[in-house]
Amino acid sequence: MKTRDWVVRVFFGVVIWIGVFFLTNIVISFFNGGKISLINRDYQINALAALAGLFLSITILLILNLIGIKKNDKRIIFEMAYIDKVTGIGNKNKFIIDSIDILLKKENKYAAVVLEICNFEVINELFGFEEGNAILKYTANIIKENVFEDEAFARASAGKFNLLIKYDDDEGVKTRLEMIMDDISEYKRNDESNSKCSVSACCGIYIVNDEDIYESYSEMEFNISHIIGRAKFALLEVSGKYINRCAFYNEEIRSQFIYESDMEYALKNNEFVVYIQPKYDIKDHKLTGGEALVRWNHHEKGFLPPDKFVPLFEKNGFIVDLDMYVFETVCKMQRRWMDMGVDPVRISVNQSRMHLFKRDYVDTLKGILDKYNVPAELIELEITETVAFESMDVISEVLKRLHDIGFKISMDDFGSGYSSLNMLKNLNVDVLKIDKGFFEETSNTKRGQDIIESIIDMASKLGIETVAEGVETLEQVELLQGNGCDVAQGYFYAMPMPIDEYEAKELIGKKNDNI
Ligand code: C2E
Ligand code: CA
Ligand code: CA
Repeated sequence: MKTRDWVVRVFFGVVIWIGVFFLTNIVISFFNGGKISLINRDYQINALAALAGLFLSITILLILNLIGIKKNDKRIIFEMAYIDKVTGIGNKNKFIIDSIDILLKKENKYAAVVLEICNFEVINELFGFEEGNAILKYTANIIKENVFEDEAFARASAGKFNLLIKYDDDEGVKTRLEMIMDDISEYKRNDESNSKCSVSACCGIYIVNDEDIYESYSEMEFNISHIIGRAKFALLEVSGKYINRCAFYNEEIRSQFIYESDMEYALKNNEFVVYIQPKYDIKDHKLTGGEALVRWNHHEKGFLPPDKFVPLFEKNGFIVDLDMYVFETVCKMQRRWMDMGVDPVRISVNQSRMHLFKRDYVDTLKGILDKYNVPAELIELEITETVAFESMDVISEVLKRLHDIGFKISMDDFGSGYSSLNMLKNLNVDVLKIDKGFFEETSNTKRGQDIIESIIDMASKLGIETVAEGVETLEQVELLQGNGCDVAQGYFYAMPMPIDEYEAKELIGKKNDNI
């Protein structure tokens, strides 16, 4: 209880005490037939009056306190159940209750929205929890200011907020949400610099149908999770893509995504299959390495290419486990080659940028490497060049530690993003993989060819090996040969293939080389 409350209570107690003291004296003097007085001459009567006053004031205070505690308990229980501690707005439970109340009135049409702060986990890792919490509070306030009566909002989880807003048409909802997202992006850092910190948000929207609204409260409770689940599906469509910030749910979106509950099962049941795509020396066409590419042999949906699940896993964090699985599979393969007396070639594995922000990342890789006793030089870690600009310091530190162990590092998809040269300036990499899209678009023109030549030239001056991805034609091979590119990978040479097929094809050649 606050000090102010205590002062009020003590004051109140003293007033009761004095009041009862005087009252007792008046009553006693009246019954004694003497002059009515506030204080008696008889000290015993005074003492009795004082004791009566004390007893009564303590009793009243105790009763008031008990009522206060009960009220307080109720408030604490309410807050624990319905209020989000960080932002002070409602939580998931509050959202469910409010939404059911609103929808059961059936007065308006509504849209359920999941608003997400992009890369919230990364922001937390980079700038710390205090900054993360400040962003959440700021976002909560913006949402609160923009939501009307008969609408609901809450913070649902880490960087996600749920909203239930009135719906007239798609455009109206979109415009309203875009205004909220614009306001969120105005966030200024919570430190002395007060600088603008690039916070962005995106929204998944589901328009609530009449069929979603049942009559009973309990049925509705269940259905609210479905409604929000669909908005979440829509969110996956825009999350982290930076092009559109809003997506509406439709059945097609839903069928694109595999239920998240399948992932753990799949990992345990070896549904993820590692394919290897060989890489060849562009001068003599000899095998120089390979890239591990994962596929999902889903028990119901069949064979799925990585585009169908890698983006989802990057969102929900499962990619960290999957990448480690691929890494371990590659280590096992290298061990097998060495045990067979064949010099293995370097195999590259794709590493999601999420790893770079995990504290135990380097140690986990080292642990697996040691388990199979594989030299680190036989593994290349491919990181994409789309890593956030702000995180450059963190990344270079991680790369240094990986280099110290002996891993080779390659920059994947070079030329596909906006920060290629910037990355090259700041990060110490061993290999540069020229993006296949970049290569497709530019190799047909003189200007494009000049650019490829300059990239290869620049890389070679920096002592960086160049790998051309997506090489499909002889003309492309000749162009790359002419420009001094080191390695080529693509359908012209070989498609990605299962490990046993790769071993059957390539091991024989290597064995003969070794003889
Ligand atoms: P990426 O790392 O750029 O991989 C190269 C992709 O290009 C592969 O697609 C490969 O099959 C395809 N490719 C190879 N040669 C050619 C060619 O000549 N022409 C064309 N058009 N394509 C070619 P894939 O296997 O579907 O992988 C797609 C992306 O999925 C990869 O792009 C990578 O970003 C991601 N990915 C795959 N496996 C993993 C993994 O284990 N972990 C992570 N984090 N990402 C992965
Ligand atoms: Ca790659
Ligand atoms: Ca690539």
